[in-house]
Amino acid sequence: MMRRDGTNDENVQMSDVMCDSCGSEWTLERPMVEGHQGSCICGPCLMVAYTELVVDAGPDDDDDEATVEERSCTLCLEAKTIPMWQSPMTETAWFCRQCLKRAAGVLHKDPDIPWVKPK
Ligand SMILES: [Zn+2]
Ligand SMILES: [Zn+2]
Repeated sequence: MMRRDGTNDENVQMSDVMCDSCGSEWTLERPMVEGHQGSCICGPCLMVAYTELVVDAGPDDDDDEATVEERSCTLCLEAKTIPMWQSPMTETAWFCRQCLKRAAGVLHKDPDIPWVKPK
């Protein structure tokens, strides 16, 4: 979980929220999607992750297949054996495909955020 030291949990400011992948602050230009316990991924990171793990990987019919090493997802905190995206900026940050799809859906649907799913 990425929160600036000294963050007041009762009054979290946008600048207190940072992307778990790249460490950037949440701004109006940089949307964030929250996972569990304050973990976040920003729009630009999500764009890269979604493109690599969902678009480039093709149809997602193998979510149930245990073909990859089990890892804990930074967003949902669950240990899974489905494909995950490793942040190039933060090697310890892994994002499971389910979370990336959920997060992409959230941003895609928000009319106030100019983020659309890459094709
Ligand atoms: Zn980011
Ligand atoms: Zn996840």
